[in-house]
Amino acid sequence: MRQVDHFINGERFVGSSGRFGDIFNPNTGEVQARVQFATEAEMDLAVQSAVKAQVDWAAANPQRRARVMFEFKRLVEANMEELASLLSSEHGKVVADSKGDIQRGLEVIEFTCGIPHALKGEYTEGAGPGIDVYSMRQPLGVGAGITPFNFPAMIPMWMFGVAVAVGNAFILKPSEKDPTLPVRLAELFLEAGGPKGILNVVHGDKVAVDAILTHPDIKAVSFVGSSDIAHYVYSTGTAHSKRVQAMGGAKNHGIVLPDCDMDQTVKDLIGAAYGSAGERCMALPVVVPVGKATADELRKRLIAEIETLRVGISSDAGAHYGPVVSAAHREKVKGLIQQGVDEGAELVVDGRDFTLQGYEKGFFIGPSLFDNVTPDMETYKTEIFGPVLQIVRAETFEEAAALPSNHQYGNGVAIFTRNGPAARTFAAKVNVGMVGINVPIPVPVAYHTFGGWKRSAFGDTNQHGMEGVKFWTKVKTVTARWPDDEHARDSAFIIPTMK
Ligand code: NAD
Repeated sequence: MRQVDHFINGERFVGSSGRFGDIFNPNTGEVQARVQFATEAEMDLAVQSAVKAQVDWAAANPQRRARVMFEFKRLVEANMEELASLLSSEHGKVVADSKGDIQRGLEVIEFTCGIPHALKGEYTEGAGPGIDVYSMRQPLGVGAGITPFNFPAMIPMWMFGVAVAVGNAFILKPSEKDPTLPVRLAELFLEAGGPKGILNVVHGDKVAVDAILTHPDIKAVSFVGSSDIAHYVYSTGTAHSKRVQAMGGAKNHGIVLPDCDMDQTVKDLIGAAYGSAGERCMALPVVVPVGKATADELRKRLIAEIETLRVGISSDAGAHYGPVVSAAHREKVKGLIQQGVDEGAELVVDGRDFTLQGYEKGFFIGPSLFDNVTPDMETYKTEIFGPVLQIVRAETFEEAAALPSNHQYGNGVAIFTRNGPAARTFAAKVNVGMVGINVPIPVPVAYHTFGGWKRSAFGDTNQHGMEGVKFWTKVKTVTARWPDDEHARDSAFIIPTMK
């Protein structure tokens, strides 16, 4: 059986833990490969190679590092077809969506091609007599990223793209469910001219994560995954004096006002709720129509659209979405649907019994739609992460707008309306990190920054854009005095001030 090994110091590294994870083909339900799980000592080996390599990489001028990023981008683009089908074969998302996953990561790499500009410090001439002040951003040393299964290309590139471009070395601990693509990215980085040891991939489970969180030479940890683990990573990493950003789960709402473009809104909701089988932290699994007429119309149209949806294997170019990632996840989603039924929500479309002919053992779930979900239900409070859309009816705009603000998660939210002032006020007031106005999946472009609020993110710095540059660097400020005779001074015994 194919085995996925670690990638340490520029080469394949076969570990000796004797512990492995199964990699499934979600289309067939079969185990297609296995991935090594690292020991603490193997993690240390990767960190030591990173520590060694980082010194020269940090000393290279930023334009040289940017050229490596540029070549890496070119190589990923040149291998797009192979990478996308590889990604789909382990994740289960359709190939067109895998290309989107890779492309969104590449947009962060594009941002890093301009890293010399982002690293320019600040300068004040004449801050005092003969005194100039300037600041610079310097890399931290070795950083680490721990990533989820649902974006095995984009999220690693969010992290290592910025981290290495500013001069760090990096350890990536990707999801054990679809780990092959991250290794391919590290190989391409090497081929692009990235020095050995700058981008390492170490696979594993909690043992590998704990080895990262407690390692004295890892200075910063970026995590994306579910909220309980995000909180664990944040608290353990910070207790070990690391800088930590830890993004968690989500339950994003789409608020639908009566004046919206209903045709477009329905299309947007369907794509955002069911695309990638709902396995996106920026999916829209909750829709809140305002007023009974809007809700009834929306429900009717959503049912009609759902009937046109085609669920298929990930290589089926005509499929709207593919299987979920594992049998365990499929059962979890089905259980959460049952929970909604038990709590009294109305299951209008039930996708639980869906099977795909010829792929009966694949991890498929048909689209499900709930109506009359209420905020007190557990099914509303919980992240389902599957192809399930819940209608929560609201009588007024105020009632609708309060829902995302009061939810435990605060990743993204969207509002569909033609009312500019209402949308503007909503965007300013809502207690959520990323807002879409007639945009169903408001993942910010790479030169802005990604991050949710509340239980969707722990730590205070977002992913990519200038926030990413800030996270992966530390600031040094130099106060320089070149005295001439005119400005010569006696000893000063009070704190220097600028009069
Ligand atoms: P997960 O939390 O199960 O796994 C994420 C990472 O943590 C993986 O690398 C995994 O190996 C590791 N991990 C798992 N269990 C661990 C443990 N007990 N101790 C230490 N590490 C552990 O998440 P997932 O199922 O891979 O991804 C789906 C989740 O990620 C969803 O909740 C989704 O909302 C979230 N997500 C959030 C964002 C965001 O930016 N907010 C983006 C994508 C996904």
